[in-house]
Amino acid sequence: MSDKPTNFLRQIIERDIAEGVNDGRRFAGSPGDAAHHAAGPIDAAKIRTRFPPEPNGYLHIGHAKSICLNFGLAADYGGICHLRFDDTNPEKEEQEYVDAIIEAVRWLGFDWNVGGTDHLYYASSYFDFMARAAEALIDDGLAYVDEQSAEAMRAARGDFNSAGTDSPFRSRSVAENRARWAEMCSGRLPDGAAVLRARIDMASPNINLRDPAIYRIKHASHHATGDRWCVYPMYTYAHPIEDALERITHSICTLEFEDQRPFYDWLLGHLARLGLLATPLPRQYEFGRLNINGVMTSKRKLKALVDEGHVSGWDDPRMPTIFGLRRRGYTPASLRLMAERTGASKTNIWVDMSVLDGALREDLESQAARAMAVVDPLRLRLTNWADVFGSVEHREPCHAPAHPQRAELGMRSFTLGREVWIERDDFAEVPPKGFFRLFPGNRVRLKYGLVVECSGCQKDASGNVTAVLATVVPDTKSGTPGADAVKVKGTITWVAAHEAVAAEFRLFERLFTADQPDADGRDFRSVLNPSSRSIVSGFVDPNVASVGADTRLQLERLGYFVADRIDHRPGQPVFNRITGLKDGYK
Ligand code: ATP
Ligand code: MG
Repeated sequence: MSDKPTNFLRQIIERDIAEGVNDGRRFAGSPGDAAHHAAGPIDAAKIRTRFPPEPNGYLHIGHAKSICLNFGLAADYGGICHLRFDDTNPEKEEQEYVDAIIEAVRWLGFDWNVGGTDHLYYASSYFDFMARAAEALIDDGLAYVDEQSAEAMRAARGDFNSAGTDSPFRSRSVAENRARWAEMCSGRLPDGAAVLRARIDMASPNINLRDPAIYRIKHASHHATGDRWCVYPMYTYAHPIEDALERITHSICTLEFEDQRPFYDWLLGHLARLGLLATPLPRQYEFGRLNINGVMTSKRKLKALVDEGHVSGWDDPRMPTIFGLRRRGYTPASLRLMAERTGASKTNIWVDMSVLDGALREDLESQAARAMAVVDPLRLRLTNWADVFGSVEHREPCHAPAHPQRAELGMRSFTLGREVWIERDDFAEVPPKGFFRLFPGNRVRLKYGLVVECSGCQKDASGNVTAVLATVVPDTKSGTPGADAVKVKGTITWVAAHEAVAAEFRLFERLFTADQPDADGRDFRSVLNPSSRSIVSGFVDPNVASVGADTRLQLERLGYFVADRIDHRPGQPVFNRITGLKDGYK
């Protein structure tokens, strides 16, 4: 089983396994109907789950949640998770999205190839079966062709307070329904001329059971099946069948499908009774969506952000897409940890990005090499350098562990010289209360280097500080005997001017100022954060400048950064700040 925190889905799966609900279930090695599976071996997978995206856009953080949940549960309980493209809608789907989804699921660390079998499926390859199932329903008196207008059908559906009324076409004979269905499929009828409906109950309190449409006419070319079909199944009809053909045991979806579950069970129950589908049938379970404060995930609105140039693309580091999160520097492990932490509950949940940031820090704390950099540089001149070291050119070697807890990662080496870059806000001409860093008369340690004492600053004509002046306190070199004899309250990070490499830093804040940018019909454009991205020029030490793209580092006191996967070049570094340090020491 598993030592992860339990949740209602885990409890259902554990109960089903304990009761042997799915024991003896056959799986023929590929999806198919009852006969196909009956000829196959007992399924070695204890459970089967699936992640079923529609290939009509890029995946986002909410999808990451669903991917981690479905693949994670399968992995934890000796099961298999299928990656299934729900490509039943001919118009909106594209190969570009299929490829991007495959890349994103892989990047998250999941695999659908088990024992040499690729469990990657396309709902469109089930179109033949879906049409056959529709005919079986017609033959059994459970489906009819309705030729009312869409408006008439809507009006006849009734509402929460009143029952629907029967369509004048509801009591057609099987033979007539077959003939009309054949005509629907023939291509002779225009879009909207007729639909195939399930015949269930026009008075059901669940409006989804008031004879839902299961097939519509659509003269559209499909990315996989071309012009073969002019009728396409409705999602609510297609999805349960896809699950059943693949022998999914636990079909996990979000809460908005709860009202569809009775139809899910109705449809599969009848198709199994008619001998078309293998049993036991899949069961649907609904969990609450993951929502993140300040994050908008609607595909249509994310597309607007890209198309209108509010962000640089689908992979802009501020985007909640998986590609945006990847470029920002979040790790697959941090997303998986976030998914685990947010669990699975029966209500929609809202969390802050801090859950992901916390997961990222946890992942990187033990892994990321440490380094020093300066993002808002101010020159510090050590005026007695030549007196102490004999020459203005003297370079004082300094050493620091690559990682404070992991000696095996070795040491990093750099040098200190007469001029160093420090953070502008580490100096104050007039120190505010409690300020322990550089101000005239105060001593601080240059981390891993020497103690210096501030003597003043230089300014330009308009009064801006252009350099800070200080003197070296002799015999205070970190790691030498007596270094600690001189006590200081502040330690600051720095990069020596003589070896600093200019670097671009991209610093991000939340994209929206409101927690629910598109709530209550608000135009999300009105709450775009104008300072969600700032690009600044700073310096890194040469060791940092030479790392490869995608390398993640902890820049001391500044946060976790990643070398941008697109724009970073060794020697011309570009770093994205992923997130700050939880308790930056200042
Ligand atoms: P969206 O409208 O947000 O783009 P969708 O549900 O239309 O998402 P699909 O491609 O149909 O996109 O989603 C694939 C799977 O991901 C579905 O099972 C869906 O329920 C799940 N999913 C999408 N968003 C979330 C979320 N915020 N939390 C959990 N699961 C989600
Ligand atoms: Mg959807």
